[in-house]
Parts: sequence; structure tokens; C-alpha cells
Amino acid sequence: MSDCLFCSIVAGDIPGDIVFENESVLAFRDIDPKAPTHILVIPKKHIRSINELESDDQSLAGEMLIAAKSIAKLEGIDDSGFRTVFNTNDDGGQTVFHIHMHILGGRQMTWPPG
Ligand code: 5GP
Ligand code: ZN
Repeated sequence: MSDCLFCSIVAGDIPGDIVFENESVLAFRDIDPKAPTHILVIPKKHIRSINELESDDQSLAGEMLIAAKSIAKLEGIDDSGFRTVFNTNDDGGQTVFHIHMHILGGRQMTWPPG
């Protein structure tokens, strides 16, 4: 999608600090980290949010979780723990409308989230 920030990172038009990549998924560091480790995992395919996931996207959605496992290990936060978050639309606090999973770690998280 031409006017999508994360599609521009996938295309290489905007630089991203990439930590993981495979055929279907890309992961890069958040530009404004909210924890010592803050990584965004996105599908290379443009999907606006969880609301727009189709049944055909089932394996792609699973790929994002499997990528999270690899990334947590690479970052050394698998044992200490981490949080994964998908924000959706206004109440969820979504600001970039290309579906992404936040991986946050390296500090104690609080619950409930704000
Ligand atoms: P959301 O608020 O939609 O759940 O998350 C969007 C995230 O994208 C935010 O945490 C924000 O800091 C991050 N972000 C916004 N613009 C950029 C950018 O140009 N590069 C990177 N790496 N992250 C960005
Ligand atoms: Zn996009």
C-alpha cells in the first residue's frame, strides 16, 4: 500500500532497524521504545488491523507468533519474559494502520495496561 508507513519499511523506502525477516514477516525496533526491548512484528502483506484478518491469513497470523518466539530468544528475553500486544483502532490505541505485534521486554511489565 503506497501511503502506508510500514509497507514503506517493507519496501526499503524508509529505513528500519531490522532484527528478523523471513518470506512473510518482518520485525524491526520501535522508533520510540516503551521498554528496553521494543520490537514490532509485521506481515509483509498489508493488512489494516486484526479486524481485517481473513481466514486465508491463518498461517500468516501464526507466522507472527512463531517469529515472536525466535525474536524473544535472539533478544535474550525469552526466559525473563516479555509482553506481546496488538492495538486495534481508537480504543486499542492503534496509530499505524498496518497490523503489527509489539514485543516488549527487558523490564517488569504492569497489569492492567493503561
Ligand atoms: P500502535 O500505536 O499503532 O500500536 O504502534 C505503532 C508503533 O509504531 C508505535 O509504537 C510507534 O512508536 C512506532 N512507529 C511509528 N513510526 C515509526 C517509524 O517510522 N519507524 C519505527 N521503527 N517505528 C515507528
Ligand atoms: Zn501497510
